[in-house]
Amino acid sequence: MDNADFIFNDFIRVIRVNQRLKKLIETKMSVHKITEYPAKVLGEVGEPVTEFDEELKTLIVDMFETMYAEEGVGLAAPQIGLSLRLFVMDCAGIKLVAANPEIISTEGEQDGEEGCLSVGRVHAKLVRAKRATLRAQDVKGEWYEHTAEDLAARCFQHETDHCDGTLFINRLTPLKRDMVKKKFQKMKKWR
Ligand code: ZN
Repeated sequence: MDNADFIFNDFIRVIRVNQRLKKLIETKMSVHKITEYPAKVLGEVGEPVTEFDEELKTLIVDMFETMYAEEGVGLAAPQIGLSLRLFVMDCAGIKLVAANPEIISTEGEQDGEEGCLSVGRVHAKLVRAKRATLRAQDVKGEWYEHTAEDLAARCFQHETDHCDGTLFINRLTPLKRDMVKKKFQKMKKWR
């Protein structure tokens, strides 16, 4: 693929994300359906957020409502089918919006259970950094940094991963990953 093709494909992808966003907002539903593994969008690197407008605000309100309705502590845009680098969270007393998130530093280790709305909340133990500093833009596009520990730090890492097309199961050993996938498939049959 030459460079012109690459730019063209990128351009088409941005248009697709924008069309999907418009459609979502036009449905006038504030609680959206959760996209589940193995949907393709969950494995894609999201497009950067560039417009901090009313449409984005509506999307963020919807994402919080969807997260609360599903009793989650964090939700990233790919989880409602939008390939965008954006997440919301309300976890361990930290409520925030993160557009174009990055983990800029980490420290230590924590071992604990992790789950994901897109994998039917099937949990598995996963080692993450104990402390993490998130750098992101808020709803107005202002850059900020936030350092957290334990559960909130785990949430920063999990949600930033979503924006990069990585699920927590991708970080498990193949054996553990298969166990989670099997449990999830079984659960899907019974609902
Ligand atoms: Zn998740």
